[in-house]
Amino acid sequence: MQIIKHIQSLDKALLKMRKQGATIGFVPTMGALHKGHLSLVNKSVQSCHSTIASIYVNPTQFNNKNDLKNYPGNFKADYELLDSAKCDIVFLPGDKEMYPEQDKRHFNFGFISEIMEGEMRPGHFNGVAQIVTKLFDAVKPDRAYFGKKDFQQLAVIRKLVDDYNYNIEIIGCPIVREKDGLAMSSRNVLLKEAERSEAPNIYEALLQIKNKIESTEVFELKKFVKDKISQTKHLKLDYFRIVDSKTLVPVNKITNEKAVTACIAVYAGKVRLIDNIDLIT
Ligand code: AMP
Repeated sequence: MQIIKHIQSLDKALLKMRKQGATIGFVPTMGALHKGHLSLVNKSVQSCHSTIASIYVNPTQFNNKNDLKNYPGNFKADYELLDSAKCDIVFLPGDKEMYPEQDKRHFNFGFISEIMEGEMRPGHFNGVAQIVTKLFDAVKPDRAYFGKKDFQQLAVIRKLVDDYNYNIEIIGCPIVREKDGLAMSSRNVLLKEAERSEAPNIYEALLQIKNKIESTEVFELKKFVKDKISQTKHLKLDYFRIVDSKTLVPVNKITNEKAVTACIAVYAGKVRLIDNIDLIT
């Protein structure tokens, strides 16, 4: 696997690949890789001739300085994982490469970027859009792979691709979980033991409400989740929403007529965890 740090060298490598008619799959990440990231890489390797993963901890999407400062990273381990997954190139740009000057662009994706993560993390999706457009412009992939773990991010990326006419197929990949149900996340390593042992309550709550949707009103489902999280010692609910899977508009009633997703964000101590489940597909 090649390590490439500069857009110019990436251009050269890509030109060579394209001359050979290769379809290019792209997996953007912030490193501290786990099986969730690797599932995206595996999907790309299976269906594209060449796979490029990027590792870049993008400062503009962090609304909390401490979160950025504490974000985990271990390039050697990441390299090994990507190499054994048969990734062809890891793109590892520095800040100067991605932001040679301040990015002053303001993206407007409307409602889908304003609720939930958009509300709790002001500026987050603008930062995501800044880096993803830069990476898409650098890599120019045929397909890009994103996890459903970041459900709202996936919706924003789909809108970005539509709004800005990127000719890139966006592939959403299932959430990979630990054995006890906790969604894999780079931030999980930051959890203290007691927080980690309570964290599976998050997915448990989602599964429990999924089992109740036929017999329970939305407001009761919300109360159930709120109560369950408040009964733990170390978890604090940031938000819980049941939304239309396409528009992300909160729903008051669940019917079989449209897809509905339940989304949750929880603080485990200082670590913020998100998860979601499709209630109706
Ligand atoms: P990150 O490094 O957190 O920016 O994540 C990079 C990509 O991996 C994003 O598309 C995430 O949605 C995806 N991802 C992270 N965790 C998981 C997971 N547990 N299952 C599936 N995809 C994931």
